[in-house]
Parts: sequence; C-alpha cells; structure tokens
Amino acid sequence: MATTTSERRLLIDGEWVETGAWIEVRSPYSGELVGRVPRAGAAEARRAVDAAARALETPLPAHERAAILDRVAALLRERHEEVARTICAEAGKPIRTARVEASRAVSTYTFAAVEARKLAGEVIPMDAAEAGAGKLALTLRRPIGVVGAISPFNFPCNLVAHKLAPALAAGCPVVLKPASQTPLSALLLAELEQEAGLPQGWLNVVAGPASEIGEVLVADERVRLITFTGSSDVGWGLQERAPRKRVKLELGNSTPAIVAADADLEAAASKLAANAFSFAGQSCISVQRIYVERPVLDAFLGRFLPKVEALVVGDPSDEATDVGPVIDTDARDRILAWIEEARAAGARLLTGGRDGELIRPTVLADVPDTAKVSCEEVFGPVAIVNPVDSLAEAIERANGTSYGLQAGVFTSSIATALAAAEGLEFGGVTVNEAPTFRSDQMPYGGVKGSGNTKEGPAFAVREMTEERLVIVQR
Ligand code: NAP
Repeated sequence: MATTTSERRLLIDGEWVETGAWIEVRSPYSGELVGRVPRAGAAEARRAVDAAARALETPLPAHERAAILDRVAALLRERHEEVARTICAEAGKPIRTARVEASRAVSTYTFAAVEARKLAGEVIPMDAAEAGAGKLALTLRRPIGVVGAISPFNFPCNLVAHKLAPALAAGCPVVLKPASQTPLSALLLAELEQEAGLPQGWLNVVAGPASEIGEVLVADERVRLITFTGSSDVGWGLQERAPRKRVKLELGNSTPAIVAADADLEAAASKLAANAFSFAGQSCISVQRIYVERPVLDAFLGRFLPKVEALVVGDPSDEATDVGPVIDTDARDRILAWIEEARAAGARLLTGGRDGELIRPTVLADVPDTAKVSCEEVFGPVAIVNPVDSLAEAIERANGTSYGLQAGVFTSSIATALAAAEGLEFGGVTVNEAPTFRSDQMPYGGVKGSGNTKEGPAFAVREMTEERLVIVQR
C-alpha cells in the first residue's frame, strides 16, 4: 500500500504551532516517511504548562466535560479508519489490530464521559462520634490541577486516550508528551478534542526530546500529577525526581501464563499463540513465559506450535498480516541478541528467528531462568515454554521477576484457579484467558516494578482528583 504522508502541528494554548524544527515519523516496516511534526523543546513545554495553568482558572462544569468526551467518542467512531491507518503507519501495527485499538479508544472516551457525570464525594456520618455531633461533613472531589502525561509508542492512540479522557473527566487540563516515534495518533486525537469543543489551553501537545520536556513537567510545581506509561527505568526515575508530585506509573511486565495439566489445551494453545505475538509482542502484557505441567507439555506444544507457525508475518498494512515489524532496527537487533544469548545458555529454538528485516514468532524451550528472555521484558515476538512439576513451582517461577502487571492460568479446576489468583503477585490474574486481555473500564495496573496505579477511567479519575473535606456546623 502506498504510504500517505501527514504533517501535523503541535497544540499549545488552542493554537496549532510550528517550531522551525521537525521530528520525522517513519514506517517501522518500510522506513518510508509517513509524517512529520514540529519538534518542541523546553520553551514550548513551559508555554504549554502556562496555558494549562490558565485554563484551570476557568473550571469546566461536569456536563460540558461529559458532552465533549461523548463528542470525541462519536468523532473517533466517524473517523475510525483514519485513526486505525495512522496507528498502522506510524507504529507498524497490523491494520486489523490497529482497528481494535481505534475501537477501544471510543470505549475509553465513552467510559470517561460516564465518570465526568458521576464524579462525586461522600457524606461522612459525623454524629457517629460524640465529637462530631451537630455537624454535617462531606467530601468534594476537586481536580488535582495540571496533569503532565507521557505516553509510549505501542498504543499511540488508546494509551493517550487513557490519559486525556480521565483528565478531562476529572476537570484537569493536560500537557501531553507523546512518544517521539508515534506522535501522529496523539495529534489526531488532539484535533478531535478541539473539534469536540475543548476550550483553549485544556489540552496541549508537545512532541520532542524526552528528557528536556520531561524535566519541565518534573520541575514545574503547577504540574501536580505526572501520568506515565512506558519503561520501568524511566518511570521510576521520574518518581525519584518528583517526590512531591503524584507520579502515576504504568510500566512493563514479563508476562507469565500457567497451563495446568487439567486445562483445555486447545483453548490455551489458541489464546496463547494469538497473544504472545500480537503487535509483534510489543504490549506490556504480551505473553512471554509459558509454564506447562510436565505431563501435558508435548500435547500442549503439539497444538501451540502449528498455531504459531500459521501466523502471517509481513506488511502491517496488509489485511492478512498478524505480525509486523518491531518498532525499529535497534529493538529488532536487541531481541535477536537475547534469543542468541538464551540459545548459548542451552535454550532450544522450537520455531521462529530472523526473517529478512523481521522476526518470525519465536518459541524457545528449556530456557534458564537467568536468561534475559526469561527474567526481563522482551517486548518482541518471543515466548518461552518451560515444563514445571507442580502448580506451586509454576507460581514460584511466574513470580520470579521484578515485574507484576498481569499473569494468567489455564485450568478446569476452580481450586487451581483460586490458588493461582492468590499466589500470583500481579495486579491482575486471568483465568482461562490470556493475560494479555484488557478492556478499557477495568482497573488495570501493576504491582512490584510494574507500577503504582490503576488506569481505566473510573480509577484514573480517582487519582486525578483530591478529596476536600467540608465540615458544616448545623
Ligand atoms: P519508554 O522508552 O520509556 O518511553 C515512554 C515515553 O517516555 C515516551 O514518550 C518517551 O519519549 C518518554 N521518555 C523517555 N525518557 C524520558 C525521560 N527521561 N523523561 C521523561 N520522559 C521520557 O517506553 P516505550 O519504549 O515507548 O514503551 C515501551 C514500554 O512501555 C514497555 O516497557 C512497556 O511494557 C511499557 N508499557 C506499559 C503499559 C502499561 O499500561 N503498564 C502499556 C504500554 C507500554 P521519547 O519517545 O521521546 O523517547
């Protein structure tokens, strides 16, 4: 498919602006130029914070915020194919998967509109204590203030939506720094918010060098909350640098799935084959480590490997493609090096490996727990399959990571499912579903090194508001 090039401006204080310098956006598949956006620096980031702080001075009532969110959802529906094609072009996400992301963004805005309408505090029963008799108390939920949002490349539309939509629902103006490799979807979303009637200054989008723009968001006291989705080192580093702000982190994972001996092996193999390699494994909850009870290992692999090998690898704009490129050649070379490191340590390559400029869905067996593909986040189309002798061993090995975002178990036993749900130290546990599953209203977020918050509009709105107690003497 011929690539269309799009040029967008940054959004600061309701104006579409240029800076004189440009960030080129290239297709991860072909290297072709797919667009360019102005490159902002610290000066533009400061102007963006100024604009957001001014916007905060004129609060938007809940019914207006909700109406804007509903209109964005409607516009996303209308321009669904354009949104999907933008995601596909800049991130190299297969077009069918990109359409799912575009649909999920509709859902995210729709749920955020609900939250805007029902945002409320609570009444405290003051006369429950002698000291409170004769008083009425209630809490108000107030917007925390200006929100700084930093988003990753892998869901360039819906993960931006998960920051912008709850912030507006909560009544917080935003300064967004999208990933430099994928700023086009974020700016398209910004265009839709403007078209939906968002007043000046409520959303500002500055693409540019991460450390420079990040530093402005960290240093400026008016930015009261930073919501960050991305890699662990960057996220925890932001929290260290901004100890007095709320820094909300959605980070990586090394996602495990356990296949118990009593599992429906056909269903487990189908779900895991689809979810270890979707978007070339570049989801924070892409299935990476599969632990199978030894008696069913061969039967599982006999079902799993043909499904992996049937995945169509190629041009992400092709309707048939299941697995496209990873984001850039550095990422590809790192992933291939990790595969080789595991093989050198004794792992067996069951299928996959390099395929021209791409990586075929790769399955490794007998991988030592110390190999990077086992203990770190691969963020590529690689899954490892290891036998275990008991559920307890599977849980222990699944937990043997600094991460804790989501994990899954396949079993026909309720007792096994509950034991896994209790034993797995993760923010979410799926039963008979791949741990890659997410829908947008869920409380989604990790424990341990994977983060410190939950997203999903209802939960993000809670983070983006502060409780104010009002005590009234009767
Ligand atoms: P990344 O390299 O950490 O980048 C994420 C964002 O942070 C980008 O906008 C990046 O800007 C910015 N950034 C980089 N260094 C920064 C700094 N020093 N200060 C402020 N901002 C900085 O992550 P990525 O490669 O885009 O995304 C992949 C990671 O995100 C994986 O670890 C994945 O697991 C995680 N992730 C987590 C979730 C979740 O919900 N838990 C969802 C998706 C992805 P530039 O692009 O300009 O470098």
